[in-house]
Amino acid sequence: MHSKEIRYSFTRHYLIAIVILAILSSSAFYALKTTLKSSESTAFIVNLSGNQRMLSQRIALYSQLYYLSLLNPKNSNEHTKIRELLTKASFEMRDANEKLLSGKINDGDEHELSYEIYELYFGQKHLKNRVDDYLVLIDKLIHAKTYKEASIITTKIITSSNTLVNDLNAAGLQYQKEGNANIEKIQAMLFTIWILTIITLLLEIIFIFQPMAHKMATLFQKIVWHEHNLQEEIKIRTNKLTLANEKLAHLASHDPLTGLKNRLNMEKELQGLIDHQHVYQSSYAVVMLDIDWFKKINDTYGHDAGDFVLTELAKIFLESVRPQDSVYRAGGEEFVVIFNRITQEQAVTKCEKIRQRIQDHPFVYHELIFRITISIGIYHPQCGILNNVTDILKLADNALYQAKRTGRNKIVLAENCS
Ligand code: GH3
Ligand code: MG
Ligand code: MG
Repeated sequence: MHSKEIRYSFTRHYLIAIVILAILSSSAFYALKTTLKSSESTAFIVNLSGNQRMLSQRIALYSQLYYLSLLNPKNSNEHTKIRELLTKASFEMRDANEKLLSGKINDGDEHELSYEIYELYFGQKHLKNRVDDYLVLIDKLIHAKTYKEASIITTKIITSSNTLVNDLNAAGLQYQKEGNANIEKIQAMLFTIWILTIITLLLEIIFIFQPMAHKMATLFQKIVWHEHNLQEEIKIRTNKLTLANEKLAHLASHDPLTGLKNRLNMEKELQGLIDHQHVYQSSYAVVMLDIDWFKKINDTYGHDAGDFVLTELAKIFLESVRPQDSVYRAGGEEFVVIFNRITQEQAVTKCEKIRQRIQDHPFVYHELIFRITISIGIYHPQCGILNNVTDILKLADNALYQAKRTGRNKIVLAENCS
């Protein structure tokens, strides 16, 4: 999976989770708001209906007082005051009644009438008509022309008031009951939303966050694994490189045909010997060996036969020297042996043995037998200590040349050594 896809997948999952939670919390907010509004409306309605009940009682009381004030015409002030109170109470009761029945209560909020309330007002009990009639009676009382008429109306008002109060009380209780039921419904809804939120959160944990965490862990593991592989790969490549370098270094310092160390190596090691000679006070000998008439072998039997002789010769040289000594192919059919910790006499004896061994050795190549000899030139510090590789090699080479010039298959010590 590419990083872009992973990012999209994570973002999508997060968005879904956030949208669900946003919907739930918005619903909870809306439900809470509705609950508050509903409880406000309930309080208002209950208050209004309670007020209506109280007004009907008050009106009955004012009616009585009004009638009594009519009996005492001297006190016209009180009469007017009571009439005003009665008119006001009557107006308030009508207003409350209209509000309750129209459903338009607070700030334009509509409150639908329930079946029970509707029944109460418009059913058998005719509460609506009775309230209207009650209010008409008040109006009639205010406009009554005679004491008798006022007396009859007041009696009617008091009689109606008793039953009206009871039924208005019942309406109030019904309003209260409905309001409470409504609040309970909204509370249940809130509880459901809360449960839904918890379930959603759990589902999000199981289906979104868990898989996401798992995916991250897998990715992390993959990265670690890749890193480990990379390190292994680097290790392998480094090993290969080290081997290649070693091989290269070997190739640079060895002769590919015989496997012997080459001239470059010889000069380096000889310089090392010269440098340490002063420290360890140990003697050494530099010996140059050259095949006699080698060209003839090449010419007569071919280059491969010449190569065979060179390889075989290298083996004999290696077998003939001690562990502390070294054999080099200095170039062409010319070899160098450096004897370590050796006197001049010992070096001559060693070289003589080698010369003899080669002279006696049959070189068997494809049913052909060659016999060869070698000429040897020796340098030993006993001839005169030299601290320069070129000078030493030159002395040894001169000695070899002398051996060639004076008949070959022999050993010659460098100048001043004999
Ligand atoms: P001398 O006794 O004076 O040393 O005579 P020579 O024939 O040995 O010496 P010369 O210098 O005339 O010839 C050396 C020959 O060695 C010439 C060359 O072809 C041959 N040679 C040099 N390197 C190699 C090699 O790697 N393989 C083979 N087969 N021959 C080689
Ligand atoms: Mg030669
Ligand atoms: Mg030569």
